[in-house]
Amino acid sequence: MKQYDVIIIGAGAAGLSAATAARERGKRIAVLEMGETPARKVMASGGGRCNITNTDANHTRYFGENPNFVRGALSRVSAYDIIEWANGKKLSLVEKTPGRYFCENGASAVVEALMNDVRGIDIFYNTNVKSVQKTTDIFIISTNQNTFCAKSVIVATGGISFDGLGVSDIGYKIAKTFGHKIIPVRPALCALSIPNIPSELAGISIDAEIKIGKTKLCDSLLFTHFGIGGPLAYRASVRDIHNGIVINLMPNIDVQNVLRDAKHTSGKKNVTNILTQYLPNRVAKWIAGNDTRNIADIKDTDIAKIATRITNIIIPGDKIKLHNMASAEIVRGGVDTREISSKTMESMLCRGLFFAGEVMDIAGDLGGFNLQWAWASGRVAGQNAGNI
Ligand SMILES: Cc1cc2nc3c(=O)[nH]c(=O)nc-3n(C[C@H](O)[C@H](O)[C@H](O)COP(=O)(O)OP(=O)(O)OC[C@H]3O[C@@H](n4cnc5c(N)ncnc54)[C@H](O)[C@@H]3O)c2cc1C
Repeated sequence: MKQYDVIIIGAGAAGLSAATAARERGKRIAVLEMGETPARKVMASGGGRCNITNTDANHTRYFGENPNFVRGALSRVSAYDIIEWANGKKLSLVEKTPGRYFCENGASAVVEALMNDVRGIDIFYNTNVKSVQKTTDIFIISTNQNTFCAKSVIVATGGISFDGLGVSDIGYKIAKTFGHKIIPVRPALCALSIPNIPSELAGISIDAEIKIGKTKLCDSLLFTHFGIGGPLAYRASVRDIHNGIVINLMPNIDVQNVLRDAKHTSGKKNVTNILTQYLPNRVAKWIAGNDTRNIADIKDTDIAKIATRITNIIIPGDKIKLHNMASAEIVRGGVDTREISSKTMESMLCRGLFFAGEVMDIAGDLGGFNLQWAWASGRVAGQNAGNI
C-alpha cells in the first residue's frame, strides 16, 4: 500500500485547490475522486461561465451556525488572489456586476487551468471512498477500488445538492466517525415553492425586493409554476426564512402616490391599466383581481390596500418550501465549523483530519461566494495538511 502525506477526498474546486497548495509544499499527494472527471460543479457553474469569485466576499455574505468562521480562510486567500491566479492562467475574467467575476473563456477553461496546477499528482478517478479510519498516526482510506493510507486527510466531498452531477454524503459520515457534529443539511440557492402565487404568472421576470426581517434584497424575481425563482428567490433561500418573507413588486416607487395621482390625471383608468405602466400585464391583473372600478371612484383607504397588495406581500414561513435538493446549487448545513480551526481547516477533534469547501456548514450568497469559499478553504487546508 503506497503511503501519502496527504490524501484529498474529492476533486472538486476545494479538493483541487488543496492539492495545488499541498504540492507547493513538496507533499506526496493523492486525490480520490468517485466520478470519471474532475470538478463537475465548476464545469456547470455560472451557466457554463463560472462565476469564479466575488470581491465582496466577507463573513456577511455567508450563512450557517458560525459564519464568522470564513474570516480565517478569506483573510489568507482573498478574491483578489483568485483573480490574480486566473490572470496568471490567461483566463479572461469579466466583472458583470460590481465585484462579481465570470470567466469569458467558459467554465471548462477554469477546470483546465485547475488541472494544469495538479499535473503529475496521483488522481484516482472512479474511486468511491467508503470509510476513513485512523490507527495511531495513519489514516486508512477504504474505497471501492484500493485501500490508501496517509498522514493527513482532507475531506473535500462537497454538498449533496444537484445530485445529477454525482454527489455523496461520505464527508458527513467521515466527520461523524471522528466525533464531529453535523448541522442538518437543506437545499439553498434554489427556487421557493409558494402556493398562493398563481401559476399563470410563470415565466414573468421583474426587478423586485424581498424583505427577511431587517434585511432587504433587491434583484430579479422570476415567477414559476410553483412560486418564485431567479436570483432574488435564490438569495432569499440561503438565508433564514422560517419566519417568512415580504415581497415588494415595485420597490423604490411610492405606489400609493402613483395611484392617488392617477385619480386626477387618469381618473377613468382602472387599477390594471395604471399598474401596467410599471408591471407586466399579467401581474397587474393579478394585483387588481376583480377590481374594474375607475381609479377616480376608489377611496384613498382602498388605494392604500391596493398598494399594500403590491409592496407588502407577506408570505408566512410555513407557506414557503425550498424547491428541492435536486435543483439547489448548494446546501446549507454540513460539518459544524465550531469544531474546526478557522486558521488551518484542521479538525479540533482529530489531528491530521482537515475539511475544505462546501462539506462544512458554510453557505455563500449567490454571486461567486461559494467558489471563493471552496478555493480559499481548500488552499488553506492544503497549506497545513501533512505536517505530522
Ligand atoms: C449548477 C451549479 C452552478 C453553480 N454556479 C456557481 C457559480 O457560478 N459560482 C459559485 O461560486 N458557486 C457556484 N455553484 C456552487 C459551487 O459549484 C460549489 O459550492 C462548489 O463547487 C463546492 O466545491 P467543493 O469542492 O466543496 O465541492 P464539489 O465541487 O461538490 O466537489 C466535491 C467532489 O467530491 C467528490 N466526492 C463526493 N463523494 C465522494 C466519495 N465518496 N469518494 C470520492 N469522491 C467523492 C465529488 O464527486 C466531487 O467531485 C454552483 C453549483 C451548481 C450545482
